[in-house]
Amino acid sequence: MNDHRPPPNDIATHLRAPRTRAALLVQQRILVAVRDTLLREGFVELSAPLVGPVTDPGVRGAKQADVDYYGTTYKIMTSAILYKQAALLSFDKIFSIAPNVRLEPPETASTGRHLVEFHQIDVEVADATAEGVMELAQTLVRAAVSSVLPDLAEELEGLGRDPAAFVELLGRPFDRVDHAAAVARVVEFGIDQRATAEISWPGERALSGKATAPFFITGYPKGSRGFYDRESTRRPGFLRNFDLLAPEGYGELASGGEREHEYQRIIARMRETGENPAKYGWYLDLVRDGIRPSAGFGIGLERLTRYLVGADEVWEVCAFPKLPGRVTR
Ligand code: AMP
Ligand code: MG
Repeated sequence: MNDHRPPPNDIATHLRAPRTRAALLVQQRILVAVRDTLLREGFVELSAPLVGPVTDPGVRGAKQADVDYYGTTYKIMTSAILYKQAALLSFDKIFSIAPNVRLEPPETASTGRHLVEFHQIDVEVADATAEGVMELAQTLVRAAVSSVLPDLAEELEGLGRDPAAFVELLGRPFDRVDHAAAVARVVEFGIDQRATAEISWPGERALSGKATAPFFITGYPKGSRGFYDRESTRRPGFLRNFDLLAPEGYGELASGGEREHEYQRIIARMRETGENPAKYGWYLDLVRDGIRPSAGFGIGLERLTRYLVGADEVWEVCAFPKLPGRVTR
């Protein structure tokens, strides 16, 4: 991949560029394919809230954006996780495709993977296991690729993306690597990596760079994720969760897992992760009343599009990109 290239200052040039138009058509195809697949599987699409008193705290170094809501501070959603869990009171299988805002650190502007405003294909299934929803994530990625390859062959060619990149993706199940094995591999590459921590960005890049098809990393250590990823009862200290990584150095496409749903466990996990339970009034009221056990995931729409079109930078697949630390008027 090339060195970092910022988006043009002139938005009209960006919008008119054949590359932008081709990438946006691919993105539209991805959305249609994912929606069709989920609706066929009996999912109900819900519109996620945009603001609320609290949002997902597990966002790895990013800050939340505040809104003055009639004199009270509300947050713009960093993810729909809390609402996804709540929505399972209405239906067994739900999804939403919604924008998220994360004030990522300015230095992430050059990773090629970080935007301030992005969209997630957010899926949640009652009574599901991590393994079950990993299968579903694989199905969605394959459905997107299977739909884009024949329908947008010309656009892919114009973007310089060789369809041969997806033969393995379509041909065999995605590999599943335990977090501990992924750590060992990162260390073998000569990159510093603690066994009890999130995989570092250089580590993730290296793992992704060596891969030739998407793969899952499973069972992250507890300290690395938000309070809502369920801790394993068989392996205390480790979570029943996963990331889906793209090959060729494109990095993380999705995160997901089983969810904590019992009041006492959620309170304990909130305390462990430094969250003040008092902030989560509406959510904890629901939990006390009883929410359903579930599992789900969120796929970054722009990340998936970037991988499909083979773009160097994630902003290339956005009509109106917002990069960390970059302020325009
Ligand atoms: P997370 O809950 O942080 O794992 O986010 C879910 C998914 O959203 C990730 O797997 C990415 O695909 C995508 N995502 C997260 N943060 C960003 C960002 N700053 N820019 C673009 N996509 C993102
Ligand atoms: Mg993640």
